Amino acid sequence: MTVSKRIFNKPVVLISRCIGFDAVRYNGDMISSHEVEMMKPYVSFIPVCPEVEIGLGIPRDTIRIVRIDGDDHLIQPSTGVDLTDRMNTFCSSYLQNLPLVDGFLLKFRSPTSGISGVNIYATTEKSAAIGKGAGFFGRMVLDTFAGYPIEDEGRIRNTRVRDHFLTRIFMLSDLDNVLKNPSLTGLTRFHAQNKLALMAYSQATVKTLGNVAANRNNLSISEMIALYRRSLIEGTKNPARYTSHINVLHHAMGYFSDELSPDEKTFFLNSVEDYRNGNLPISALKKMLLIWIIKYTNTYLSSQTYFAPYPEPLMELDSSLIERGRDMYTGLE
Ligand code: SF4
Repeated sequence: MTVSKRIFNKPVVLISRCIGFDAVRYNGDMISSHEVEMMKPYVSFIPVCPEVEIGLGIPRDTIRIVRIDGDDHLIQPSTGVDLTDRMNTFCSSYLQNLPLVDGFLLKFRSPTSGISGVNIYATTEKSAAIGKGAGFFGRMVLDTFAGYPIEDEGRIRNTRVRDHFLTRIFMLSDLDNVLKNPSLTGLTRFHAQNKLALMAYSQATVKTLGNVAANRNNLSISEMIALYRRSLIEGTKNPARYTSHINVLHHAMGYFSDELSPDEKTFFLNSVEDYRNGNLPISALKKMLLIWIIKYTNTYLSSQTYFAPYPEPLMELDSSLIERGRDMYTGLE
């Protein structure tokens, strides 16, 4: 693999069916999501609507979470029907029978699919919420797949949240390939190519995964890769901190210490400080390094996923940072 030629697997992501797939919402609507549309060519989505799966129609009367004697129930206020058991039975059997998945993208604030911020009520009567939590399907996803990339369509609009999510699902998807044809060579190659990306998460993550890949416990190759996958999910669950990115950038520059002039080094290090102070995006620094990687043919760095964590068309910049706005000045000269 080289940075410019990285071939991406399609990560498998379970998604709420009403987000850009089918008009299955209670009112017969579908939610449109710019981010999901961008991902569609690069991601293998598994759409699911738990409310339709348990037999509720489209359209249907709304349902809500009602806390009774400390237990949450899923109730349809207009009919008084308690759907809790039906929903829990569906969720548990559906999630246990899923194929290998790399992430989840669920509907914001839904009493079924939401992962946070879902209203919880004390009664089926019109009233103010008494608390917030996750929906019934959402909470079972969070329990069963703890640590996995799990986001909702509201949070994913944030550039940093999206970057973290995309980085992880494409990393996991690469590892799934190794899992399909298990070999020590495949795992060693995966670990080597993700070294900088993992460093950006933490040195502890690099060390833990390195120990698994060294197979100190004499596991079978399949067990070892499965353990590596679990450790990778755990070790990357918190977003990479900017200070860790700075360590990685310094580390990468070190590969060119003999080639760069003092002025080039100073310029790069000052630019890293600009990034630290929030005045420069990290993409600008990665591009600078890429120029040197190409110019000095550094094969180790050119194999690092850190410089191409996911397909370029998904690296949409904040519109305030790009030049599309320049047309606003047409006619002012
Ligand atoms: S939020 Fe979940 S349950 Fe509600 S319509 Fe969308 S997919 Fe179905």
